[in-house]
Amino acid sequence: MESMKAVVFHGPGDMRFETVPKPVPKEGEVCIKVKYAGICGSDVEEYKIGSDRAIPPIIFGHEFSGEIVEVGPGVSENRVGQRVSVNPILYCGECYYCKRGLINLCPYRRSIGRTLGVEKKRCDGAFAEYVCVPEFALVPLRDDVTFEEGALLEPLAVCLSGAKKGSFGEGESVLVIGAGPIGLMTIQFLKAMKAGNIVATDIVDSKLETARKIGADHVLNVKAQEIDRALDFVDGIGFDRVIIAAGVPSSLSDALRLVRSGGRIVMVGMIRKKIEIDPLPIVGREITVYGSYMFTKEMHEVMDYLSNKMLNVKDIITSVCSLEELPDMFKKLASDSEEIKVLVKVA
Ligand SMILES: [Zn+2]
Ligand SMILES: [Zn+2]
Repeated sequence: MESMKAVVFHGPGDMRFETVPKPVPKEGEVCIKVKYAGICGSDVEEYKIGSDRAIPPIIFGHEFSGEIVEVGPGVSENRVGQRVSVNPILYCGECYYCKRGLINLCPYRRSIGRTLGVEKKRCDGAFAEYVCVPEFALVPLRDDVTFEEGALLEPLAVCLSGAKKGSFGEGESVLVIGAGPIGLMTIQFLKAMKAGNIVATDIVDSKLETARKIGADHVLNVKAQEIDRALDFVDGIGFDRVIIAAGVPSSLSDALRLVRSGGRIVMVGMIRKKIEIDPLPIVGREITVYGSYMFTKEMHEVMDYLSNKMLNVKDIITSVCSLEELPDMFKKLASDSEEIKVLVKVA
């Protein structure tokens, strides 16, 4: 049996660089030689506290790009050599939701780099030299899209989907809570979609600087100032839309206060704690709250944005490390808040 290098999650705080068996593509699958893989905020979250979505041992990594080097039975040999990214949502294709194109809501889906799905079966990801995925999950990269950009297609699709939720109006004012990778990528789409006044909040100045550089009109450090000061930028009326791109428990109450009457709140960030909110304004001020989970077809749309050079991904990638350095990088990310997006250069 051939072997490969990989970084394996063995439980919270325990990530190891190891030699493991190289996967062999099964029927309908391809084997990809990984080029770049991104570390997702959810990977760091699982690393810190763990959950039944990451039952060890498992290889993380659901944001990646690479080249097809082998195909399983039933897949055309012509695929070999193709440059690809991958949609990590391995939907069933048959259920109520899949039939309506809502693959992100498929209750039978599995997810690359997670133990998700009915049997909680391990589905290894791309923090490894090779990864096998079903052919239907492939998203071929256009020639003018780089492997680095290809590794960002998935989180970019999450952001595009969030930016589109609710009837978007040109010129509307948007408050983006959280200037991490999701917030920063969302701002770029909002800009491209011709939003008006965009205000970003965070507690890290360097991230806010990046937010300004990539298109936020105003930024607010909420460690130094009350978040309600954001209202100063919209004449005290409130924002047409508030996008929650952070997992901070207070952000939903903040959003309910800072959105204008009749406005919309889009939750992209996952608040993993039970919280108390005042539901009255939802009725009395006609506020709509949207949840936005993953995406459906957006990875392909993002390709257009990248092809047309409409996105700045350079300023979002703050570090690139090797597979061998990845366990230490996880340790660092568990406490460091300055990094935005970290890519692993695998080959
Ligand atoms: Zn992710
Ligand atoms: Zn389904």
